[in-house]
Amino acid sequence: MFDLVIGSGNRHKVAELRAMLPADRFRLTSLAELSDPLEVEETGDTFAENARLKATEQARHLGRWVLAEDSGLQVDALDGRPGVLSARFAGTHGDDAANNRLLLEQLSGVAIERRGAAFRCFMCLASADGTVQIEVDGGCHGRIADRESGSGGFGYDPLFVIPEYHLTFAELGPAVKNVLSHRARALQRLIPRLLKRVCQA
Ligand code: IMP
Repeated sequence: MFDLVIGSGNRHKVAELRAMLPADRFRLTSLAELSDPLEVEETGDTFAENARLKATEQARHLGRWVLAEDSGLQVDALDGRPGVLSARFAGTHGDDAANNRLLLEQLSGVAIERRGAAFRCFMCLASADGTVQIEVDGGCHGRIADRESGSGGFGYDPLFVIPEYHLTFAELGPAVKNVLSHRARALQRLIPRLLKRVCQA
């Protein structure tokens, strides 16, 4: 078993990562289970920079291997916004209801065929000395609905429609989301490399 800290304070992300990482190979600890995690400031301009900061600074602070990710939504009609500011689009960090309201407001009057969007996820694994060991990314294309639907997931999930299903991530639920999502796709790239890397550690 390999000890790995998930460097995120977002319980939804932690739950998704727990569901997707092989439980027989990793003993996972979230920041919520630790008494002294570092509050890492997300000062980067890109998902990659923020994921690196969250992984390397937390790993150095804890002296443990850390897997961190930074993710968000890029909307075509908004020139890629909210992007790295996804969590605080409407001002307050993590206010999903306000973020979704603002997104609907900014897209009001925009026709369905112009409501394309993509979720992006950048993941970084840092070893206990705080150096980057593996970096991967993943993306997932969809469309922004004109109203919220579904009760699963978090963040923009009730507005993010997967065109092949005509359903939002919040309606599709974790079994489908954890195969198709940006986070799932990043992890699908990471897992084989991670298993190889930890066997050598
Ligand atoms: P971070 O903690 O800075 O990476 O912020 C991520 C933000 O992007 C979240 O607060 C959500 O608003 C949005 N986001 C990222 N991944 C997802 C997802 O899987 N579903 C819905 N929203 C997401």
